[in-house]
Amino acid sequence: MPSGVRLAAAPLHLDPAESWDRATLESFQLAKLRTQLARLAQDSAYYAPLFRRLGWNAGELGSLADLSKLPFTTKSDYVRSIGPDAPFGQFMTVPQSEVLRMHFSSGTTSAPTPQFWTQQDLDRWGWMYARHSHAQGIGPDDIVQCMYSYTWFVGGLGATAGYQRLGAMVIPAGSQDTERQINTLFTYGSTVLCGTPSFITHLAEEVRKRGRDPASSTVRIVMMGGEPGASIPATRQRIEELWGARAYDAYGCLEFQPIAGECAAQAGLHLAEDFLYAEVVDAETRQAVPDGTPGVLVVTHLDKQAGPLVRWWTGDIVVRDSTPCTCGRTHARLLGGVRGRADDMLVIRGVNVFPSAVEELVRKSPGLGDEYQLVINASVYDAGGFMKSLHVRVEQSDASADADRLAAQLVHDIKQQLQVGAVVEVLPFGTLARSTHKAKRVVKED
Ligand SMILES: [Zn+2]
Repeated sequence: MPSGVRLAAAPLHLDPAESWDRATLESFQLAKLRTQLARLAQDSAYYAPLFRRLGWNAGELGSLADLSKLPFTTKSDYVRSIGPDAPFGQFMTVPQSEVLRMHFSSGTTSAPTPQFWTQQDLDRWGWMYARHSHAQGIGPDDIVQCMYSYTWFVGGLGATAGYQRLGAMVIPAGSQDTERQINTLFTYGSTVLCGTPSFITHLAEEVRKRGRDPASSTVRIVMMGGEPGASIPATRQRIEELWGARAYDAYGCLEFQPIAGECAAQAGLHLAEDFLYAEVVDAETRQAVPDGTPGVLVVTHLDKQAGPLVRWWTGDIVVRDSTPCTCGRTHARLLGGVRGRADDMLVIRGVNVFPSAVEELVRKSPGLGDEYQLVINASVYDAGGFMKSLHVRVEQSDASADADRLAAQLVHDIKQQLQVGAVVEVLPFGTLARSTHKAKRVVKED
């Protein structure tokens, strides 16, 4: 069948839930939450005693706002719960015989912790991923070279299930072996690449080193997740130019797969609001903030079966917009994706600075490469122990350029845009470590 016929027959949105009106969506969320909380009050070794201690009855959930009467669940709560009931922990709510999959966290913030999925949970995950990919125009004619990790961590397997449900062909390439990735891409004509922004950028550099232009390859869509980047305008533009492709952002974490994905309008990431209930709260006061104000994303599973979480503190800073999107989907959007980690935020002379804000400026600077580091050492603190300035390491993309002039330009841009002082070190291209998984942007040194 010619691809045009297939496209014409394809529904605008894969799932009617994507364009439910707000009232329908919220009554669906409330009904699901009541069922889920009643189940946890009975079956959860973690939540049942907690609800009893609080004197909280699941039947009391009169509105979605009532959920805020419950405490947050944090990563350290989860880690502590594993020990007494190892290896599944106190959050597990189904017998092991119903669990089909376990993944671990990458351990960047704490000891590796497991999460579990039943058949229903895996189906839900694959379907949500399929929905987001369909919203980006991916379909049966696509060949997806999936460069997320397939071992231990979430990423590769969930994406694969989603693409396959759309009828696309998937090459589970994983996040290593640059040479083979390039050979595969050019031999089989991959049309979609997915991976972390740092690996996707690294791959383009390697293609160029071999005398080929990534922009003239068959790649038409680049799907990125695992790090902020795809939603940072300068990074997105750079990657779109490098590959001659549309670049999209996706967001999920180990505990919630997926949280949000971008549509073809590239106007923020649509939250999967029929899969999770989302709150955005102030990092300090922990009270809800209005749309448009940055805050920490807090999410609750509506119907996850294996180890569901209530008011999960993601630690990710987002800005929500609940106004309708031009694509017709009604689920709220996270503008600019994940802005940063609440715990990565640097406070300099009272100004909050996220690594992603510095990234935007580095990647906009002509003459600088894509890599950068924010160095935390004694020189960035004043006598009182407060941060007084940034220390940024970057690379020059053109060896003949004047490094002092490049440094001065970036110092000027940081002062102008972020209102903080900075020391900038310009290094030869290729000096900073390249990451194939998650780039480490804040580096602590003595
Ligand atoms: Zn949209």
